[in-house]
Amino acid sequence: MKKTSISYNKKKMANERKLIFEMIDASCELAARKGAHPMENGCNCIACVNKRKRLLEPHVKKWKFRL
Ligand SMILES: [Zn+2]
Repeated sequence: MKKTSISYNKKKMANERKLIFEMIDASCELAARKGAHPMENGCNCIACVNKRKRLLEPHVKKWKFRL
């Protein structure tokens, strides 16, 4: 019983990872197709998603890199 549930979880995790990579691929493709553009709320390209994510994560208080 235990063995089957572990392999099931592994399969599920591999599946989820695959889905995530496919999502990232799709959003990178979208970004490449659209080119440079201002952030749009409905846009699922990698650039807009990252910008929205940054807005949702206020814990990055200081820019780590010096220019
Ligand atoms: Zn976008």
